[in-house]
Order: sequence, then structure tokens, then C-alpha cells
Amino acid sequence: MSHQPLGLYIHVPFCTVKCSYCDFNSFAGIEDLQSEWEAAALTELSLWAPRLRDRRISTVFIGGGTPSLLPGDSIEQLLDSIRMQMHLAPDAEITLEANPESVQPDRLASYRAAGVSRISMGVQSLNSAELVFLDRIHGADRAEAAFAEIRAAGFDNVNLDLIYGLPGQSLETWQSTVNQVLNWCGDGPDHISCYALTVEEGTPLAARVASGRVIEADPDHVAEIADWTAERLEQAGFEQYETSNYARRGLKCQHNLIYWRNQEYAAIGPGAHGFLDGVRFHVVRSPRAYIDRLREPNSPEEAPEGLPSPAIAAAERVGDLENVIDALTSGLRLVEGIDEGALPAVYERVRPVLDWAVEHGLAQRRSGRLSLTKRGHAVANEIFVRLLEPTNA
Ligand code: SF4
Repeated sequence: MSHQPLGLYIHVPFCTVKCSYCDFNSFAGIEDLQSEWEAAALTELSLWAPRLRDRRISTVFIGGGTPSLLPGDSIEQLLDSIRMQMHLAPDAEITLEANPESVQPDRLASYRAAGVSRISMGVQSLNSAELVFLDRIHGADRAEAAFAEIRAAGFDNVNLDLIYGLPGQSLETWQSTVNQVLNWCGDGPDHISCYALTVEEGTPLAARVASGRVIEADPDHVAEIADWTAERLEQAGFEQYETSNYARRGLKCQHNLIYWRNQEYAAIGPGAHGFLDGVRFHVVRSPRAYIDRLREPNSPEEAPEGLPSPAIAAAERVGDLENVIDALTSGLRLVEGIDEGALPAVYERVRPVLDWAVEHGLAQRRSGRLSLTKRGHAVANEIFVRLLEPTNA
């Protein structure tokens, strides 16, 4: 059995409303598909089981969408199906994403009984005007109450997602959000993800920006907020281990570390992305099409690259250089950086970009590892663009 950690991602496409900034594969108003989605997901797990028989699954991430809309017995069935057909590590990190308005004590108790070990809740802001701007349907009070319910259900590994850099957001309103969550239930969450708002193409927010109704935040102001955040969270006992992620007591997100370390993960559910045996793939995005494809599964030979699920829409074998660039663009987001010595020989083709970054104080080499400096993290995208220049192809 391979001892490389293997992640398993399960995508839940349901949301109560669609937030203005969101480009995830999530949909409001399709609740009537929930039981068919569940049946399809169970079928897809069974199709994957023989392929993953020799692998030990160290993390499961039930993401979305809003998985906390699902009843406890749905989550129980999914996790039982994994346990019965695959090798799920007894100490596996099992994360479920939640939103404050759908968190309920009885559901939380059943998630925990089913084996969920980590809750990741999308709070985003505690400022009423900012929540309205984002189309979030919960208020600050509900978010705090949901956190208390999560703790009361016994979860001792809880992440909160927050978003900064909103148009018109002052440093003070952001500071107020961060300071409040740090005091929830006495000592706040175990993990915080702070993402800068990005305007994603095709979202209602992008249309508002294009029409001039919304003016994006000034990048210098956003950088000031990011600097304050890093200092404040460090002072509160969090370790920054990735550009946007902070953990207490070593509770880094093991599933996301698999992504950032360019390791392997299987993926099921509409729109889910996976990486296995050198192949990147994604599942068909439409929940209806996903359900239809799994109702009468084709023979496995018909799935691309010999992958086991007929719901896989596309798959591509990753070339050596592409894989190195993937390892760099994800691994350099981590404070630990990457082990240059472990990269294959083709790394020499892009190494001059990293040498340039070191010469300019954007990256550093220490004990055989290459990592970005603070300045490098701030301009990481510029480094990544250079890695992708056609001269490297
Ligand atoms: S709740 Fe999350 S997944 Fe759903 S629309 Fe909002 S941001 Fe997107």
C-alpha cells in the first residue's frame, strides 16, 4: 500500500442563495436534487473504490456549496461507504464546510457521530453592510451562535473563513471582525483562513465592477490589511503557514496541505477537481448531468484516461515540466516552501526564475528548501507569471 497521503474531495453543490462574489460550482434553488445527488455520489464512490484499494485515505474534505445543508444521515452514509469500501485512516482529518445559517445542533451531533473531525465555517465578515454587499444571508449574531453550537457539539478543530479587501472596507471594520472572532467562546477558532476578495469573471460582482457601480479596493490598502492581519494573528498564537492560512496548536489543514504540496487526491461530485497517478481531471459541472451520468454508469473504459467514473468530463496527463510548475506555484504559497532537491531534472528549465527571485530578495534558500520572503509573498503572482512564460515551455 502506498504511504503517500491521499485526499478525497466530495463536492456538495447546494446553497441557499448564490453570493455575489462566488464562482464556485454551487447553485441555489436545486434542493429537490439532494437525494438524487446523494445516490449519485454513493455510486461514484463505489466506482472509485477498486481504483483506490491500495491507497490509504488520510483526509476527506466535504466542500461546496454548503454541505451543512445536508442532513446527518447523508453524511453518515457517505462516510460509511468510504470506510466500508476503502482504507480510511483511523486518524483521518474529515472536514465539513458549513455556513452559519444552516448550522444546527442536531445536525452537528450527527456529523460528529459520523466521524467528521473538523468544521470549516464561512463567516466572511461581522460587519452588517459588508455582509449585505457580499449577499450573505446570516448576521454577525447568527455566526457567533453557530460557532458556539459547533463547539458545544464537541468539535475542537474549527476553521473560520474571512474575506478582506472589500470595496470601501476600512482597516477598522476588518480589525473589528478579526478581534471579535478571536474572542468567540473565550479563545476563538483553531484555524483562520483570510482571503483577499477577488473579482471573479462571470459573477454579479464582476458586472458591478465593470459598470462602475463598485470600485475595487486600493491594492496598497489591501496590503496594509494583510500585514495587520498577519501580526494580529501571530500575536493571538496563530502560526501563518500559507499565504492566507493560520493555525493554532499545529492544526494546519491536512487536506489543503495535500493540494499545496502537489500530492494526490481523488474527487467526486459535480465540478470536483482531482489529481491521481499523474492525471488531473474534473467532474462534469452540472448537477443534473452528474446525476444522469451516474444513474446508468457506462463501462469504466469509456471514462477519460481510464478513470473509473463516467461523470468525469475531462482528464489530462500532466507533463514533467507542468508538474514542476504546479509544485512551485502551490508549494511556494507555503511558509515551509519546497524541497528543490526532490524536483526532477526538468526543474533546471525554470530554475533561473527562482534564482532571479532569490537575487531580488523575493525568495530564499535555507537548509535545502526554497521559500518566498515576506516581499516575495506580496508579489507571488509576478513570480508565478514568470514561471509560466512561454520561454519555459
Ligand atoms: S455560500 Fe459559499 S459556495 Fe455558496 S454561494 Fe456563497 S460563497 Fe458560494
